[in-house]
Amino acid sequence: MKKLLLILAVALSACACGGEKHIRNANYASQKRFKALLLWEPHAERDHVDFDKQAMEFFRRLNWGQGFQLDSTTSLDGIPLDSLRQYSIIVALNAAPSSPQSRANFEKYMEEGGGWMGFHASAYNDRRTNWPWYVQFLGGGVFKCNNWPPQPALAVLDETRHPVTKALPKEFVLPASEFYQWSPEPRANKDIQVLLSLSPKNYPIGIKDIVYGGDWPIVWTNRNYRMIYLNMGHGNQEFKDANQDLLFVSAFRWIVSRDPSGNPFDK
Ligand code: ZN
Repeated sequence: MKKLLLILAVALSACACGGEKHIRNANYASQKRFKALLLWEPHAERDHVDFDKQAMEFFRRLNWGQGFQLDSTTSLDGIPLDSLRQYSIIVALNAAPSSPQSRANFEKYMEEGGGWMGFHASAYNDRRTNWPWYVQFLGGGVFKCNNWPPQPALAVLDETRHPVTKALPKEFVLPASEFYQWSPEPRANKDIQVLLSLSPKNYPIGIKDIVYGGDWPIVWTNRNYRMIYLNMGHGNQEFKDANQDLLFVSAFRWIVSRDPSGNPFDK
């Protein structure tokens, strides 16, 4: 009987493969739907480089079947504005434009409807950053403090119906990370919509550097731009949780889906 079942199973699987081989390819799109650019910083602190490398692999896997064109760069210097305009999204992995020309191009790109998804230190700014446009783009907050060392933390949804968060549980534990607090708090800015925060249940959080309280948004968007910021992005533990992976995919998809030239995911 077992042998008969085995033969039957083999026959059926052969049938399915042979019959559908040319119908259900992984990449059934007739052409790549959009272009994405990964920006990373190879000379950053080790934990940030570790995250960047894992994130690049994450996005490469997201591009299995080549549903889109995925490029990467360590600098926006030397990329003309016209080339930048071809990207539906720039994914900033612990990196931000630094030269006057690349900053000017990035500002123009975003003001014209460009897409940006930034992780962790991509938003880091202090008195030395000297880029007022970028600070208001991010919501007006300057780096205030962080927990140390990196550790898991309980996150709670601020928005349960938003495309980026609607499939997530209301509360879930994030993988170990270093989380930043900002001053003033981004939530105080009327242009900012907070999607996810660290729960107050985490307090006090940290062993060496301890944070005892305060509002702690970690994922938000500035309604004036096609952007989303995610505070995760430190160390090599970030891609170990399906909820957080889903958050990253949903955020990426949401930014791309609002491309002014049309939603590439529409039928
Ligand atoms: Zn960090």
